[in-house]
Amino acid sequence: MNLTERDLKVIWHPYTQMQTAAAPIGIVKGEGACLYDEAGKCYIDAVSSWWVNIHGHAHPYIAQKVAEQLRELEHVIFAGFTHKPAVELAERLLDLLPANQRKVFYSDNGSTAIEVALKMCLQYWHNKGEQRTKIVAFKNAYHGDTFGAMAVSGRSAFTNAFEKLLFDVEFIDLPTEQNISQLKSQISNLKSQLSCFVFEPLVQGSGGMIMYEAIWLDELMKHCKQEGIFTIADEVFTGFGRTGKSFASDYLLQQPDIMCFSKGLTGGTMALGVTTCTRQIYDAFLSDDRLKTLFHGHSFTANPIACAAALASMDLFVEPSTAANIKRITEQHRVFATQVKHHPRIRTVRQTGTILAMEWETGNDTSYFNSLRDTLYQYFLRAGIVLRPLGNIIYILPPYCITNEQLSYIYSTIQQALDTI
Ligand code: PMP
Repeated sequence: MNLTERDLKVIWHPYTQMQTAAAPIGIVKGEGACLYDEAGKCYIDAVSSWWVNIHGHAHPYIAQKVAEQLRELEHVIFAGFTHKPAVELAERLLDLLPANQRKVFYSDNGSTAIEVALKMCLQYWHNKGEQRTKIVAFKNAYHGDTFGAMAVSGRSAFTNAFEKLLFDVEFIDLPTEQNISQLKSQISNLKSQLSCFVFEPLVQGSGGMIMYEAIWLDELMKHCKQEGIFTIADEVFTGFGRTGKSFASDYLLQQPDIMCFSKGLTGGTMALGVTTCTRQIYDAFLSDDRLKTLFHGHSFTANPIACAAALASMDLFVEPSTAANIKRITEQHRVFATQVKHHPRIRTVRQTGTILAMEWETGNDTSYFNSLRDTLYQYFLRAGIVLRPLGNIIYILPPYCITNEQLSYIYSTIQQALDTI
């Protein structure tokens, strides 16, 4: 039996309708932007394996650093103990972030980084003896699949089955010049109940690669600050270069109170989540009263191997060649976007940095369940490219090491699909 056959007997895959989905492809090796199946066929990973990979697969430098760490210390409980990779990563991360970020809390993934952020804000007010339990979020947002993260995500097919169990959230539209005043009033009207405002800065990923302008987000953040409402930047997807700058928050004048990271944090090598916060938030948990403790922690909090992977990834991230690659991809995307934007099958093209999204015209509304998705997905797989359309929206966000030849091949395959499907 090959990997696929063995898999089908025992495994239940994420975001997969197991009755109708095509059998999964067994991958045995990764190198650069390529994933290789059992027969040796290369698939160019144009979606960075769910947006996590930034330097390419099985990167030898990260592998070496992880192997060294494995021989030193694989794990230790992170309550009452600490270790060098966790301390060093926190120091180096805070150096890269807005100056108001002062403390690092580790967890396991993007969803848990969000859970921690929400709990920090909610308990902040609890510790201060105030009843501020409501949260503001954007319609169409996606912050993860655990219950708190789901609650602050837009209500959709993903959340339907759990709707009654999700806590109440004030959902607002994405800010524009036209609606900014109304959004501010919507927030002010609830201000005595509001704890925090959580958002994906500049790009709503899972919601369809929806992009919006930094200037209006800045306005909203400024307003929240004036009203004493904390802001949480969910940089799980946008962090580590995706938007062209190190963090999407680098496009903003306002500094968020809390920031969340995962995915590219370890270069896509290990599962790790980080929630950073200001001194003000941290201080509200300092007390002789033990009930004011942040009671949150996962068994694998600050796993040394994951921290070592993140440190190695950061070494690569700060090399000038990475910034040059991000710029190169951004420019190539721009040229391709200009080429395809007038194609009759293209409804809209949008780009922020290394993220390029194209909404296909299908005669139907744009939807995650658009049937074009499966046709396109299979078409690109046959061509040796991993693109996972969100319904009728296809997007490219490759590892930064992708070559010009690989990029050109992806563009020309998309062009062919536009002309033939
Ligand atoms: N926030 C954002 C913006 C995301 O895109 C994602 C994952 N796609 C998450 C949170 C959840 O991260 P994870 O899948 O690691 O739980």
